[in-house]
Parts: sequence; C-alpha cells; structure tokens
Amino acid sequence: MSDELPFYAPNKPPPPPRQPKPGEYLWTLTRGDQSRRAELRDAGGAAGAELQVFVNGEFASGRRYAARGLALADADGLRAVLELDGWICARCGGEYWVCETHRHRPAHHDDQCAGAGEPCPDCNRDDPPRPPRDFVSLVR
Ligand SMILES: [Zn+2]
Ligand SMILES: [Zn+2]
Repeated sequence: MSDELPFYAPNKPPPPPRQPKPGEYLWTLTRGDQSRRAELRDAGGAAGAELQVFVNGEFASGRRYAARGLALADADGLRAVLELDGWICARCGGEYWVCETHRHRPAHHDDQCAGAGEPCPDCNRDDPPRPPRDFVSLVR
C-alpha cells in the first residue's frame, strides 16, 4: 500500500535530485592549456577522506585516506611535484601570494591596486608562508 502519487499525476513533485556531495576545493594548477584540480571529499570520522584529482575538468583519480590530514598532506606533496615540473597555481599565477583585496588575483597584479599581499590560500598554507616569487628575483 502506498500513498505516493502515480508518476503521471500532474502535481507530483519531481524527485529530489541525487547530488554527490560537492568536493572541497583544494587547488588548481595549470601548465599551458592543461589543468589539474584537487578536491577533497571528507566523509567524516572513520569513513576517512578521499583526495580526487581532475585532469582538464574530468575526474581522473581518487584515493582514499584514513584521515583528512593524510589526504591534505598528499595533496600538498602532489602540488609540490607538479610545481617542480613547471605547473603553476591558477589562483595566484604562481606568485604564491594573492592580493589582499582581490583574493583571486596575484599580489601586485596591477599598479593601481594598493592591496597588500597575503599568502595564497590554495598553494601557500605553510607556516611560515613561502615568500612571494618576486622576493627571490630581488635578491638575484
Ligand atoms: Zn587587487
Ligand atoms: Zn597560489
């Protein structure tokens, strides 16, 4: 016995869309027209967390970890390897720092913008943060 409306009932509400839990964005790296994006899907507790990598927007691989911290550490490691291979952070343009006012743009992206820089939240979460890339070129 069911009180569900038949499928042809005009007032039957559409079924709730079955949506996968959205991932937690970690970073995007680009090289030329290629991109790699990392997301974390944290199921919480004993279920652990999954690190997912997307290649040019398509899901490419996923790996499950017992704890969120392990997945994040591996995401950092993967990012470091890609950076050494010439990939750059899409958020800060590989500067490691972003504009404090426009947090999706590199620090000092424009002479008209006086926003002080702050460490890029995608690629510069170390403590202490890495210095901005120009900092290195100044002492060269
Ligand atoms: Zn700015
Ligand atoms: Zn960055």
